[in-house]
Amino acid sequence: MSQADPKRWRRDFPLLSVRAHGQPLVYLDNAATTQKPRTVIDTISRFYKTGNANVHRGSHALSAQATVAFEQARDTLARWLGIEDSATLIWTRGTTEAINLVAHSWGRQHLRSGDLILLMQSAHHANIVPWQMLAAATGARIEVIPLLADGDLDREAYHRLLEQKPALVALSHVSNALGTIYPVAALCREAKAVGATVLVDGAQALPHFDLHLDQLGCDFYAFSGHKIFGPTGIGVLWGRRELLEAMPPWQGGGEMIEQVSFDGTTYAGLPFKFEAGTPNIAGAIGLAAAIDYLHGQDRMAMEQHEQALLQHALECCGQIKGFRAVASGSHRVSLMSFELEGHHQQDVAHWLDHQGIAVRAGHHCAMPLMQALGLPGTLRASFAFYNTQQEVERLALALDQLVQSAHSTHLVADMEQSTYQN
Ligand code: PMP
Repeated sequence: MSQADPKRWRRDFPLLSVRAHGQPLVYLDNAATTQKPRTVIDTISRFYKTGNANVHRGSHALSAQATVAFEQARDTLARWLGIEDSATLIWTRGTTEAINLVAHSWGRQHLRSGDLILLMQSAHHANIVPWQMLAAATGARIEVIPLLADGDLDREAYHRLLEQKPALVALSHVSNALGTIYPVAALCREAKAVGATVLVDGAQALPHFDLHLDQLGCDFYAFSGHKIFGPTGIGVLWGRRELLEAMPPWQGGGEMIEQVSFDGTTYAGLPFKFEAGTPNIAGAIGLAAAIDYLHGQDRMAMEQHEQALLQHALECCGQIKGFRAVASGSHRVSLMSFELEGHHQQDVAHWLDHQGIAVRAGHHCAMPLMQALGLPGTLRASFAFYNTQQEVERLALALDQLVQSAHSTHLVADMEQSTYQN
């Protein structure tokens, strides 16, 4: 039986003990970025204090040491993702850059006028805009896989769209605006059966559960370090070796070449072909420290604790007048997207902020989803394993106080109005 221990987990994250507006911070904006455990902060600091040098240019000991640490970081991630060939992991700045890399390199090589790209209604802008740019450059066309009312994917519509034999299907593993977990293994299988290439945006999945990438059946998988307790400015693109090998580089410069002359250049092999310029060395090493940290914890206990937080939040907030959860599908990560009737989301977020509670309000970089839902935006409380039931209750209490105070303000206004009318 696994044991959740959020109190112990919290002690590993220095930022969680700060105060906001004079109150102990309740950090519920984990889908935007997660906090960093001390081991990540220390690893980065140690690198700059004792290990800093440029990599892959090793004519001195420090550079050789930095190169080993940098490449070991890649191996750590590969092991975590169940990948034997760590050269198929490309360092990027994050999910956004990883998707742009594929759109630019694979996309321009393979897509022709009239080819079909399938996108999801709930996609993050990072999994929409690069494909729109590609479509504009190649004449490819885009169709959108709709959602059902509960936030799940409309599988029948998906099957109908697959009959048109798309060249590319770009999926989200988990919606950052709704928290819905999509059945990507099945969706990949179905897309592969009609010959499509499949990219999965995993930015919101890996913070919540581990997975073996080669069992997923996709061709490309993208994610960001900062959402899995690592530093900002580092992320990963994983791709199938045969696809990556056939793809042209998308940026040119140092590190990615084999030979350069003014007559022409030959490129390095994987992964360096896609890593032009000095990489984010400290970022990669820091991300590996985050993965080592996760590896040392009971991930199953973390997942169960997060699910318990979500259930508690839905129960506590569900009793508040005017509260409405925006997604209701049964497969969700610990993310609650909601509205409070009669209150603008920005006002609610502002009120919560003053109570020391950090949530996000707005379209969550998923404007087409909000348009489909007919909403200007939502409020989003996104939980990590270090959040507690007490924090959930503080959120519910603060929302209730807002509703009550608005209600009494209305009552006073109504009474004043009726007194005046009398
Ligand atoms: N996809 C999803 C689902 C996301 O949640 C995010 C970050 N909000 C991104 C892509 C973009 O990630 P990044 O900004 O780290 O590149």
